Amino acid sequence: MVMAEIDTLIKTPFGDYQLQRYPVTKKETLRAWDAADEYVLHHLDENELLHEKSSILILNDGFGGLSIPLNSFRPTVVTDSYLSTQAIRANEKNNQIDEAAITVIDSLFTPDHVMENLVDVVLIKLPKSLAMLEDQLHRIRPMLTRSTIIIASGMTKHIHMSTMALFEKIIGPTKTSLARKKSRLIFSQLDNDLVVTENPYPKAFNLPYLLDNMEIKIANHAAVFSQEKLDLGARFFIENLPQDDRYKTIVDLGCGNGVLGLMAAIKNQQAKLIFTDESYMAVESSIDNFLSVFDESRDAEFLQTDCLQGIADNSVSLILCNPPFHQNNAISDKVAWQMFSESKMALEDKGELWIIGNRHLAYHAKLKRIFGNCEVVASNKKFVIHKAINNVKVNGP
Ligand code: SAM
Repeated sequence: MVMAEIDTLIKTPFGDYQLQRYPVTKKETLRAWDAADEYVLHHLDENELLHEKSSILILNDGFGGLSIPLNSFRPTVVTDSYLSTQAIRANEKNNQIDEAAITVIDSLFTPDHVMENLVDVVLIKLPKSLAMLEDQLHRIRPMLTRSTIIIASGMTKHIHMSTMALFEKIIGPTKTSLARKKSRLIFSQLDNDLVVTENPYPKAFNLPYLLDNMEIKIANHAAVFSQEKLDLGARFFIENLPQDDRYKTIVDLGCGNGVLGLMAAIKNQQAKLIFTDESYMAVESSIDNFLSVFDESRDAEFLQTDCLQGIADNSVSLILCNPPFHQNNAISDKVAWQMFSESKMALEDKGELWIIGNRHLAYHAKLKRIFGNCEVVASNKKFVIHKAINNVKVNGP
């Protein structure tokens, strides 16, 4: 079957731009923007909501679908994602836009990070989780006035009563637009008199394990996977983590709150730990959790990166991974493939990749293709833990 080439030209009232997702892949099947981005841009234009000096704050711009067309207003983008940051920078370059036109700041922002502390227009691309939306609405509230234009956008299927309720609870009166191409806008206005409770994030839970009779507390910023309680898969993985003096360097790949790496570090006192995640809040949570157990006494590295970018080839003895199966709301096994292939490069000879997955994800087929071997370490009704070994001498790098 011949696949149609994916459209990379976004046509907007603010100009036409070439937009690509990141990382750029040859057989991309998804566009770098969606109908919700187009709806916001048309709404801003049709209602003449922007003027030359408008200060614009954009939250969660996936690949630049909003910030690239609005670059002439010199917007500030808030993102939790390394991939989004790279996408925005790459798309700026492809469209000959000066890098200084778009300021990108991380998801733990405060008003001090935004010019003049106040903004005229806030555009919120609805994030994956309500937790993240709640955290973000708390963070933007001090930057708003009654005249700030606040527009959130998303696909209709991701907008629920609970989404609207959060705006009403933290910002003020809120209504939605009609649907257009299965997307919808949310309009909210600051109510200065609203009594707003404190931002509940980061949250923490206790692990069902003790260290020297002490409870281990796991802190989670709002965007982190399974932030209310220990994920069942992670729990099963922890109960089967390996222990061996051969492990000199252990990577927690896609670390989330870092719970796998933390428990591996406790079991393998000789090892240096490296935590990687593309989410800023995940990496920050991992730092907090590692320091709360080991303070500065233990060597560790924390990287906000794409999979294993930044880690030298043939340098790692053990990689632990509970792979993601979503990217920007799209279900995909692309990241898992990338994680497994890059693991093969990063592992030293006889280095091991241990992964956990739901039974139905059938990761063993991928591991066998990449490593030429794969064994089941443990399994229960729901999860399987697989191990693949990097036999450089047999298979080559
Ligand atoms: N290891 C944690 C656990 O077991 O609780 C989190 C696992 S969660 C299923 C997958 C993690 O992969 C998420 O934290 C997500 O942010 C991260 N991730 C997704 N895409 C990534 C990428 N391209 N590079 C690095 N990490 C990524």
